[in-house]
Amino acid sequence: MSLADLSLGFRNAYLDHARLTAQLQAWAEAFPSLCRVTSIARTPEGRDVWLATLGPDPERLRPAVWVGGNIHAAELAGSSVALAIAEDVLRLHAEPGALELPASLAERLREVVFFVVPRISPDGAECVLRVGRPLRSVPRDQRVERGTPRWIPGDIDGDGQARAMRIRDAGGELVESREFPGLLVERTIDDDGPFYKLYPEGHIEHFDGKRVPSPYFLGDNPIDLNRNFPWTWAPGHEQIGAGPYAASEPEARGIVEFATAHPEIFAWLDLHTFGGVAIRPLGNGPDAKMDSEDLAVFRQLEAWMTEYTGYPTVSGYDEFLYEPDKPLRGDLSDYAYHQRGAIGYVVELWDLFKRLGMPRPPKFVQYYDRVSRADLVKLAWWDRDENDGRAFPPWRPFDHPQLGAVEIGGIDPRVGIWNPPLHELDAVCTSQTRAFLRVAALAPRLRIADVRREVLPGGLTQVELEIVNDGYLGSYGLASARRLDFNEPVYATAQPEGCELVDPGAAHQTLGHLDGWGRGLHSGANLPAYPGTRGTTHAGWASYLVRGTGALDVRIGSCRAGFVTARITV
Ligand SMILES: [Zn+2]
Repeated sequence: MSLADLSLGFRNAYLDHARLTAQLQAWAEAFPSLCRVTSIARTPEGRDVWLATLGPDPERLRPAVWVGGNIHAAELAGSSVALAIAEDVLRLHAEPGALELPASLAERLREVVFFVVPRISPDGAECVLRVGRPLRSVPRDQRVERGTPRWIPGDIDGDGQARAMRIRDAGGELVESREFPGLLVERTIDDDGPFYKLYPEGHIEHFDGKRVPSPYFLGDNPIDLNRNFPWTWAPGHEQIGAGPYAASEPEARGIVEFATAHPEIFAWLDLHTFGGVAIRPLGNGPDAKMDSEDLAVFRQLEAWMTEYTGYPTVSGYDEFLYEPDKPLRGDLSDYAYHQRGAIGYVVELWDLFKRLGMPRPPKFVQYYDRVSRADLVKLAWWDRDENDGRAFPPWRPFDHPQLGAVEIGGIDPRVGIWNPPLHELDAVCTSQTRAFLRVAALAPRLRIADVRREVLPGGLTQVELEIVNDGYLGSYGLASARRLDFNEPVYATAQPEGCELVDPGAAHQTLGHLDGWGRGLHSGANLPAYPGTRGTTHAGWASYLVRGTGALDVRIGSCRAGFVTARITV
């Protein structure tokens, strides 16, 4: 069966958990030698967080990349893009030629292992897909004290859906747009009303009959999984959404345990929505504080993002702090970069602001604040013309048990705001895959380049092995990852059979890290003012003085670069 026949439609639809599970299982059944599906966590609602391992011979340790999506409940497009990457990796092996990649690039990618977790928060995604209620990561609240009045979003009019709720109020902050009936826009001093308050559809817990609490996006779901990771984790009063302690949540813990066991992960893509931007390190300081070789590699990534996706690339610290001078704590891509030494970055899929024709603000994050009334009206017309009016459904009157006359409906951001419209999803999948496959191809690759034997007097043989890294990155991955304690140098072990080593201690030899050929962008290597490259810093040698005849079983590599083996007859 072809991959097209096996597809359950994730390039044109947002799959629920059952369908996403069926998609992964269909691949695992059709390509048992290329795709293995395991669970890295089980959620409190009993769903598995699936991880697909893609590539032949998955037990053979070699450089690997991580692709994760949908850690935030509403960001469903991340699942589709992760599945699209997985599908294209299978295609690389099963239907080569279909991807239109240069042969050498495709060959390199076939050596890489892909770990793909299309849906990090299946409980959250399911809740968003079924009910549509606003939700950050996970639909749960394990706080001991929750006595304060608060909104509990949910279906209140019995249609199974949780939308927005508006109430006429002379003190309302919003007014209906004159250009687009039903659309609520920010009130100005010139507006005559009527004015509205806007709440989630739902009810108020601990309501005193008078005071309506302000809705809060983490109100009854206090955990943001993307603040629950161990690198610079800080508690809730310093970092909202942090959770009670680092990796307290099964989804985050599953990722941390897996990543810890897999130092071979050298690149790490976190798929979010929305914005249309790639966010790279540093998240906690200016570029001047960043390893300059790392930065050069991220400039290469930026060039690919621009070429294949049209998205700009920004530093988290420079352009994506929600509060100035307050770096995020416990964020997953920071963990991937700083603690796992991977090329860690976020892609915010779906360039809605560009669609609205908004000029790029000085800092990308300001886009989210600068949507004007005119932009919103434009969005509503676009929604009606190109998105089947999904995002701005009509309001319906309803008699609310706590608040009296309200209207329910109005806003459904799932498709068109939080995520791209269905007919654009395929293009998003395709462009993101093209960019990411290049990142995956940066893998270091060890190869035994030469074996020399010299017969010496006295039944001795001198054996020399040349091991090279002909990958882009060094055997350590990113330059800054050299300092991580797990990131061991390349070493060689030899097991003699029949023969023996004159110095048994030579059975274990440390060769050191081996550079790759890549330098990132703007490293000056293109200017022939002082011609010259590095010497053979990508190569190392293991040598053995062997007595007698037989064979040497040699294994060379490291936990990050993977291992190559050879049987050398002596
Ligand atoms: Zn997100």
